[in-house]
Amino acid sequence: SREHSVKRVFHPMAHPNDMDAMPPRVISRGEGVYVFDDAGHKTVDAGAGLWNVNLGYSNHAIKEAIASQLEELPYYSAFKGSTNERLIELSHTLAEWLEPENIKRFFFTSGGSDSVETALRLARQFWKLQGQGDRIKFLSLKRGYHGTHFGGASVNGNSTFRRSYEPLLPGCFHVAVPFDYRNVFGVSDAERLTDLCLAALEDEIQFQGGDTIAAFIAEPVLGAGGVIVPPPNYWPRLKALLDRYGILLIADEVITGFGRTGSWFGCRGWGVQPDLMCLAKALTCGYFPLGAVAIGERVERAFKADNSAMGTISHGYTYSGHPVGCAAALACLRETAALDVVTTARREGDYLLAAFRGMADRFETIGNVRGKGLMMAIEVVSDRAVKTPAGKTYMAALAKATYEAGALVRVLGHTIILSPALVIKRHECDEIVAALQAAFAAASGDP
Ligand code: PMP
Repeated sequence: SREHSVKRVFHPMAHPNDMDAMPPRVISRGEGVYVFDDAGHKTVDAGAGLWNVNLGYSNHAIKEAIASQLEELPYYSAFKGSTNERLIELSHTLAEWLEPENIKRFFFTSGGSDSVETALRLARQFWKLQGQGDRIKFLSLKRGYHGTHFGGASVNGNSTFRRSYEPLLPGCFHVAVPFDYRNVFGVSDAERLTDLCLAALEDEIQFQGGDTIAAFIAEPVLGAGGVIVPPPNYWPRLKALLDRYGILLIADEVITGFGRTGSWFGCRGWGVQPDLMCLAKALTCGYFPLGAVAIGERVERAFKADNSAMGTISHGYTYSGHPVGCAAALACLRETAALDVVTTARREGDYLLAAFRGMADRFETIGNVRGKGLMMAIEVVSDRAVKTPAGKTYMAALAKATYEAGALVRVLGHTIILSPALVIKRHECDEIVAALQAAFAAASGDP
């Protein structure tokens, strides 16, 4: 049977063990914002894959660019003395995109985890090039997510992604995230929360010694940590604080890059220029694996000034600057700009947030609704007053009912994540809302 065949390929490393409660779906086809499973059931993909299929599943321009690049040159390495046309074009294009950040240099990777790893390595290398080899430590936010490689796992602020792989990179320290719904300070006021979180950060900087810290890494809006939107003054004041100690700022824009939050880049939305920026996901919208590290002026200068071998060697993946990936990215960025997806992200994001807040008036188990642009979360609780997280069985039932009612949502712990494509139309948003409403209405048993 089909079920038997799916179970046979069940991967103990990639799927949860409760196969009966949550059997993996076989997604067979995608069209616009919809995906179809192998039984032909159609749902709005309310997660846009893993936050990345920002242009939906039927973008012909990207598919054609990939096909034509495969004809012209499927691969050549962009490593030590060779490059390719698409890589050159993409670098120029990205430099135009990041003109406000004054970023002109890019290093291409195969995805987000690679981009984080490269950024962390670059940060340490930057200080060694400056003759300040003691600057090796990294600071990051609790609840932050930075991919699966060892460096990324080390700066991850969620124990699920850390514990099984310890010991991790030494010299990584995690500080309080400005999360108004849950924080150890017990405050929800934005100004006060920023004050307290930055005071905690400065305390850690001084405790470690500012001149031992290479970089601070964070997501402008935290994604896998449950969509945490810092208060508006947090990032500008964070940047000013880091500047006082000379600490590099790495913005992990793997999710927030290219429009998802309603600004073209998350840190641009906060009015901040980072030293390094990690990009992936919407760079190719899922049509081909590609990531990039955007290298700010301060880091670029250090590498240019270096005449030793140290500045030039030791970065480079087999697939760095893959011509097919770069061709996909070029088409993807052209479409992303032409469709002005930031406007849609802002407009439909506001619409959906208001709809979810409306749902919170009806359903007691909705503890918190939050988001920015089309990056949103609904936190589900069994007791609103004390914010007790809803249980696993309840969440699985909610996800299943939502799917059956026509929307595919991702559940992280007791939080429903919503990050649809940035080309979503109003009636498609309404389908997501209707599916969630039906699921909450049908949900029974203990949350
Ligand atoms: N950083 C962030 C902020 C992410 O959300 C992710 C992936 N969800 C990564 C890094 C890792 O990217 P990838 O899965 O492409 O390796």
